[in-house]
Amino acid sequence: DHSCKLALVTGSTSGIGLGVARELAGSGYRIMLHGLLDAGAGADLAADFTREFAVDCGFSNADLSTLRGCTELVVATQEFGGSVDVLVNNAGIQYTSAAVDFPQARWDSLIAVNLNAPFYLSQQVLPAMLAVGWGRIINIASVHGLVASNKKAAYCAAKHGLVGLTKVLALESAKAGVTVNAICPGWVETPLIEPQIQAIAQAQGIDIERAKMALVGEKQPLPVATQPAAIGQLVVFLLSDAAATMTGIALPVDGGWTAQ
Ligand code: NAD
Repeated sequence: DHSCKLALVTGSTSGIGLGVARELAGSGYRIMLHGLLDAGAGADLAADFTREFAVDCGFSNADLSTLRGCTELVVATQEFGGSVDVLVNNAGIQYTSAAVDFPQARWDSLIAVNLNAPFYLSQQVLPAMLAVGWGRIINIASVHGLVASNKKAAYCAAKHGLVGLTKVLALESAKAGVTVNAICPGWVETPLIEPQIQAIAQAQGIDIERAKMALVGEKQPLPVATQPAAIGQLVVFLLSDAAATMTGIALPVDGGWTAQ
């Protein structure tokens, strides 16, 4: 029975994080929602969740590009609902450029949000998990934590780093009932991939639907983008007792992308 457990899902105002938060709320977890929405819109989202799923929900719009913002999020979460039982490190950004031209400021902010924040947040919530002898950290990495693509130097570096961090935290928590795992999606239908779809539509003079198929099919033998709810259902499984001995893994959900 997880009904009193508290899950913090970073970046849960959109895309995969929203899908994960919805599945966890539907499974009875209390949810700390988080993302870059203004406070009023965030409060509305939390109220909508409470109405739909009958669980308590909080909201923070802390900026995860700094240690200060990460600490602010942990404090706000504890003020809302006590110690964190489940941390889903999901917030992330993308920027594409050839490595030789990659703007340093873009590199720094991408590494900050996609890699430093999961580390800072894990560091701050792990002690309580270790003390009570139960906890789950799920890192939303990517196939780009396992393999490379052109023009994604910062993203691949951050996601490979996140997979490495997952493994170390899993080892260090293994005796204490705390598991740490990464999920490595291929293409997921969210706002994050829209600029890449639009770029293909423009370059090839085709409509958005065909551009999406071209983008997904270029990498995935199974040319269908995963839905955010499917990632959410996988997170629910990783929190269940059936997954108690799964730790330190990096699980692809990628239409065969990394099988090649
Ligand atoms: P999205 O753009 O729909 O959502 C990103 C979320 O992160 C939003 O809630 C946003 O507010 C939040 N966020 C962004 N920058 C932030 C910052 N500085 N501080 C705090 N919050 C911030 O993206 P998505 O596609 O749902 O991606 C979620 C995660 O999944 C990311 O880590 C991404 O790398 C990963 N991922 C996505 C795909 C895909 O195809 N969409 C594939 C593999 C992995």
